[in-house]
Amino acid sequence: MVKHKTPPPGTAHGEPEFVEMLRKRAAIPRGSTVVLGIGDDCAIVRPRRSSDDLLYTTDMLIEGTHFLRDTHRPEDAGWKALARGLSDIAAMGGEPQFCLVSLALAGWTTGYWVERFYDGLLALAGQTGTALIGGDLAATDRLICDIVVGGTVPRGQALRREGSRAGDAIYVSGQLGGSARGLETRRGAAWQRHKRPEPRLALGRFLRERVGATAAMDLSDGLSLDLHRLCAASGLRAEIEAPPMFPAATLEQALHGGEDYELLFTAPPGVRVPRSFRGLPLTRIGVMRRGQPGRVDFDGEELPRGGWDHLSHR
Ligand SMILES: [Mg+2]
Repeated sequence: MVKHKTPPPGTAHGEPEFVEMLRKRAAIPRGSTVVLGIGDDCAIVRPRRSSDDLLYTTDMLIEGTHFLRDTHRPEDAGWKALARGLSDIAAMGGEPQFCLVSLALAGWTTGYWVERFYDGLLALAGQTGTALIGGDLAATDRLICDIVVGGTVPRGQALRREGSRAGDAIYVSGQLGGSARGLETRRGAAWQRHKRPEPRLALGRFLRERVGATAAMDLSDGLSLDLHRLCAASGLRAEIEAPPMFPAATLEQALHGGEDYELLFTAPPGVRVPRSFRGLPLTRIGVMRRGQPGRVDFDGEELPRGGWDHLSHR
């Protein structure tokens, strides 16, 4: 990821502190149909008498931060813009339904570029049954795409970050570090992984329906930071060993590199989690423990949170 370094005004802290501050201020009114607000992969809304809960997530894709116009084709930028939101729906075990896409176009943007951007976005939307239902257009000095993705999950069944219990085993899907490796080399399968992440929608549903996962989230900012967030939400700590690594990725990239969009989840110790799901490996990497909430130990030592924190990298 290219590093853009402007924090929101008045935020002297990293992203976790900022999110926590906002979560405390944004009180959910009594009697609201909102059952989960800020802080998880998606917010959850429960319409009265509905058998499904609604999931909402939003993401920005910014030129220079999430893609570069010299190296990323417009189709790839469009694909990635939607993939990031779909990955959050996958993390809750949900089914995507629709997206709203707003674009602020830079001076360099041509009609052809925008058309190709939507080629990539709509290809993924078509594959995943996601309807594009609206958006907005504006002009600015560099391209910004803002996406809202909405999905559904059976009432009360969403996989949250907070559901993990002491003794649960920790798993990851796939191999980690590919996106970071791709950004470094701009070649081969790792570069493809960086440009075209695959939201693990079928796996998310499988974890909810068949595995009985107690908690889940997607790996967007790197294992060390994301596992810390899952631990903090569940009020536990974690002990892990080396995760499966993408070919040619380093341990550093697998532990701290962002944008792999694999799923991180926990399951009770008695549950038999298959070794793979539709060819995608599912690997046990550790165990949840009582102790300092949010702490992650790797090979017996506390793991620094080296993942991508959008506010602390300035
Ligand atoms: Mg997420």
